[in-house]
Amino acid sequence: MVTTAPDFDKISPHMPEWNGNGKAVMLFGPPGSGKGTQAKLVQECLHVPHISTGDMLRARMQTSDELGETIRRLLDQGELVTDDLVNQMVAERVVQPDCLDGFLLDGYPRTLSQADWVCGQLEARGTGWVVIHLLVDYNEIIARLAGRRHCAGCGAVYHIVFRPPQVEGVCDSCRGALRVREDDRESVIRRRLDAYAAQSKPLLEYFAGQSAPFLEVDGVGATPAAIATQICEFIRAGQQKYMSMPQVAGN
Ligand code: AMP
Repeated sequence: MVTTAPDFDKISPHMPEWNGNGKAVMLFGPPGSGKGTQAKLVQECLHVPHISTGDMLRARMQTSDELGETIRRLLDQGELVTDDLVNQMVAERVVQPDCLDGFLLDGYPRTLSQADWVCGQLEARGTGWVVIHLLVDYNEIIARLAGRRHCAGCGAVYHIVFRPPQVEGVCDSCRGALRVREDDRESVIRRRLDAYAAQSKPLLEYFAGQSAPFLEVDGVGATPAAIATQICEFIRAGQQKYMSMPQVAGN
């Protein structure tokens, strides 16, 4: 399912009505923890739309108006965009009909204020939620992200060690040039991880204080499919207990 970016100029100042009866799955973890890969696999097994705020923002920054340029600058520097902006993006997206039976939030909420806002919205409408925390060591993340290469032509993603192209620097599919995404540069990755560590601690404490199901899962050491199976089984079983105590991956 495709995540569509809302037209920000047309966003009403009032939150649209949110009638979804299915569960909201919040997939949560540091940048580079494999959230995107897990989201796609979990989406396939649960048949719910995958809503990535990062993807929405990258789509929106293609428009070179003031908002697009602001988003580009923040993303290139590894900074978070404002809570109001992402909350409104999510509010616009989850009222679309495909979200009625639940949806998967990838990279959202990312701050305490976003979590508080979205949980309040869900609670008010009787929609339950499940929190999945992917735990990956920061050194592993830096190795993963710094080796990532994106095709400037078709957007295909490679890794210099784990998924190298046949010809160095050239896309196998469209022969386009492979580039390092601006926010995958090591200095930016470190800033993103620092921001994550600072912001996720209160968020984890917030979720730990709730009765909603919370799964903390090791994001390495098993295949992506095996990790996704663990996540889907946990969600389907409607478990209420922590699988382990939530904690932030060490630096
Ligand atoms: P991601 O693809 O999830 O790693 O997100 C890429 C970038 O988009 C982040 O580094 C932030 O700049 C921005 N972003 C994505 N989601 C959020 C969010 N929930 N709140 C604030 N900024 C976000």
